[in-house]
Amino acid sequence: MPRNRRVNRLLALIALVVVSVFIVRKINHSTPPQGSQQQQDESLRTTFSKHPGSSPPSPNPLLQEVGEPDGILTHIGDSDRPRANATLLSLVRNLELRGIVRTMQDVERTFNSKFNYPWTFFNDVPFTEEFKRRTQAMTKAPCRYELIPKEHWETPPWINKDIVAVSGQILVEDDIMYAKQQSYHKMCRWNSGMFYKHPALKDVRWYWRIEPNTRYYCSIDYDVFRYMEDNEKTYGYVINIYDAPQSIRTLWPTTMEFVAQHPEYVNPNNAIQWLTDSEIRPDHNAIANGYSTCHFWSNFEIGDMDFFRSDAYDKYFEYLDHAGGFFYERWGDAPVHSIGLGLFLDKSKIHWFKDIGYLHMPYYNCPASKKCSGCHAGRFTDAGYLNRENCIDNFFKYVHAD
Ligand code: GDP
Ligand code: MN
Repeated sequence: MPRNRRVNRLLALIALVVVSVFIVRKINHSTPPQGSQQQQDESLRTTFSKHPGSSPPSPNPLLQEVGEPDGILTHIGDSDRPRANATLLSLVRNLELRGIVRTMQDVERTFNSKFNYPWTFFNDVPFTEEFKRRTQAMTKAPCRYELIPKEHWETPPWINKDIVAVSGQILVEDDIMYAKQQSYHKMCRWNSGMFYKHPALKDVRWYWRIEPNTRYYCSIDYDVFRYMEDNEKTYGYVINIYDAPQSIRTLWPTTMEFVAQHPEYVNPNNAIQWLTDSEIRPDHNAIANGYSTCHFWSNFEIGDMDFFRSDAYDKYFEYLDHAGGFFYERWGDAPVHSIGLGLFLDKSKIHWFKDIGYLHMPYYNCPASKKCSGCHAGRFTDAGYLNRENCIDNFFKYVHAD
């Protein structure tokens, strides 16, 4: 094709993208959830006075003495019971060495010095010798250091760079954090649909995701992986929060397209009511086009990779991946995991680890227990205005009604 025609075509493509994005934004911005601005304000006021969201769930289950979960438990010293096929898993950068060492110290003190599960570290570039030396020094369990294959990390070839540039600008205008940081988009995609495909995890079933600079406050004296396996749980979380709806405008509609093609994957005992609630934050549901945005905060998760490897979840990921929202929007692995779990899993297989004291800034899970120290029992955040980001009440309402 002559150069001029190529340039013209490119300009036409860019113009088309700009115009479509503009139209989509107009539609999104000009479609109020219901009625006039005044009615909307009124409806928000009533909603928030019904659900003030300015304090943690009431009564706050973290304020009653929190013990170990019910069910089959394997304690230290129950040595006749086999260990689970599990790893502590951390995607981390070399420059986060101090942060991961500090978190390892917490995890080893509260849990792993008793159970000795191996650590597996992942990185998109090789780990430095210093990183390996200093992390291995934190544990007597074996550490593995794994490089992520390029084809699992790099932006896939079907993603159009011109659209990424234009849509990135819109994310910036919407104040979406990391809007233009491509590595962040790649990280979210890897955590959504790639980690469980890494060859190093081929024969591993359970993982506990650990992020640098997170804190663990409570002694855990039973084997959490065995707990999951013996009590037929698939996924464990500690914190349930709202997402920035502007980062996932088309995630729910794209999910509904996939579900329309594959209704057989939807579990009869799903958690769709939790996913679609519009009572508490109607604004979020409206901007996210039908999704409440409530999700398990995935910087902590204890999960069964066999679920993520299932046809239902993996095909779902592939569908999302081709739709492009990991790059054209800023779909996070937390809402993607949560929607997958909420639709394709029996909701009774989801477990709240309320006994695990945890902080990823700025949110805590902090139970009242003699086994905990360093956090305030029941506190969700130190910044009062952020209490309304907590949606665990919603999860109780629709899923853990007991
Ligand atoms: P946030 O919690 O959403 O603000 O995101 P983080 O910056 O904590 O990133 C989430 C996780 O991915 C952390 O464990 C980071 O160490 C890791 N991570 C983020 N970006 C990269 C990257 O480019 N390379 C690697 N190796 N890890 C990353
Ligand atoms: Mn983080």
